[in-house]
Parts: sequence; structure tokens; C-alpha cells
Amino acid sequence: MIYLFIGPPGSGKGSLSKLCVDKLDWAQLSTGNLCREHIARQTEIGKQIDFAIKSGKLVSDKLIVDMVRDWLEQSFSQKGSVIFDGFPRTVPQAVALEGLLNRSFSSSKLKIIRFFLDDDVIVDRLTNRYICRNDACQAVYSLAEGSTLAPKKHMVCDECGGELIRRSDDTEASIRERLKTYHDHEHNLLDFYRNNGKKVLELSVAKPLDRVFEEFKVLVGLGSL
Ligand code: AMP
Repeated sequence: MIYLFIGPPGSGKGSLSKLCVDKLDWAQLSTGNLCREHIARQTEIGKQIDFAIKSGKLVSDKLIVDMVRDWLEQSFSQKGSVIFDGFPRTVPQAVALEGLLNRSFSSSKLKIIRFFLDDDVIVDRLTNRYICRNDACQAVYSLAEGSTLAPKKHMVCDECGGELIRRSDDTEASIRERLKTYHDHEHNLLDFYRNNGKKVLELSVAKPLDRVFEEFKVLVGLGSL
């Protein structure tokens, strides 16, 4: 099964993906993580996309689709479920994905999950978000008071011991730009799927992550509350 996680920045797509990876043994493809890996490794692609990412703009469809194609060729296994976290974000990406998957995959195995949350809550969440500096890890934490996503040790990653840092695009200006970009594309993207006969499953994420995980499993037919 392939799950497409569609939702605004800061809605917890990455955090829910990580729970699914750890607890259900699924795989995760995060195009945001792939982009940050390119930037950290200072590859040619990394140099081209650095500015777009910092300023909260989308990376070009072509570069993103190339990254996804490479990932599918190198890491895709049909055995377990896979989450596409933050891809597709535009209609051309969704069209390209159909092409990439049709080669080897039945489209009935695609589930589309839309995460929804108020923009004000998102801005608050992102201003408290920290990630692991290790680009092979990039685990996500929150330093908001009382958050269940707090690291066990202050500013140290639970997973690999790496230092926690702010993302370069978690500035207020970039957050506002990313939200605007998301809202500009969301409607057309969801219409693309609905017009192609796909159901869009709605997941409310204004609640603690463990609760979101339980509701997600029910939504996709995997468990009961
Ligand atoms: P994320 O980690 O999903 O919040 O993505 C961080 C940034 O990476 C985004 O603001 C974009 O600049 C870029 N990015 C990630 N995924 C995509 C995508 N599917 N299309 C275009 N840009 C993307």
C-alpha cells in the first residue's frame, strides 16, 4: 500500500510517518528530508535548491520527481507499505507519480490522507520545532512546554545523540510563505485525486501524536480505538 501524506508544513506528517516506520515497519519517503540531505552534502542539486528552501518556495517539479524516481529505483520494495511524506505537492507531481507507479503498481493500492490544522497552531508548532542535525536522522522534536515530542535530554537527539537545531526554513517569514504556497496548491491537488475517483481521507491533527496515530489506523482500516 502507498500512503500519500498531504498537509501543511508543521501538521505532523513527518512525526506520524516516523511512528508508522517504528511501529508498523513501513518505509517513508520524505522529499523534504531528501532535499535537506542534498543541501547538507552540498551536491549540485543541493546548491540549486538551497535558496528556494530557505525562502519557503517549492523546489521545481522536475528536480523533485527525479529524486522520487531515484528513490523508487533504489529503495522501493513492494513488500511493505510506503508513506510519501510531502509528495506530491502539485498537480504536475501527482501526474508524474501516476506514471512512476503505473509501471509496477496497482493504483487501487494508493491511499490519500489529508492532514488539517489551523494556521495559527502551525506557526506556534513550527516556532518550537527542532530537528536532529545529523542529515541521515533528521528526527523531529518540540520544545513547546508539555509537548510529548520533547527530547529526553535537552537539545540532544534521542535516536542518535546528534545536536538539535532549528530548520533553516522555520523562520516566521518562511513559515508564512510555505503556508501560502501550500494553500495555493492544496485545492487543485485534492481535486485532481477526487476527479480521478480517489477518496481523500481527512485526518484532524489538532491533538497529541499518539492520539493522531490511533485515529490514523482506524481511518485507513488498520485498527480500532
Ligand atoms: P518539508 O520537509 O516537507 O516541510 O519540505 C521542506 C521544503 O522542501 C519545502 O518547503 C520545499 O521547499 C521543499 N520540498 C519538499 N518536498 C517538496 C515537493 N514535493 N515539491 C516541491 N518542493 C518540496
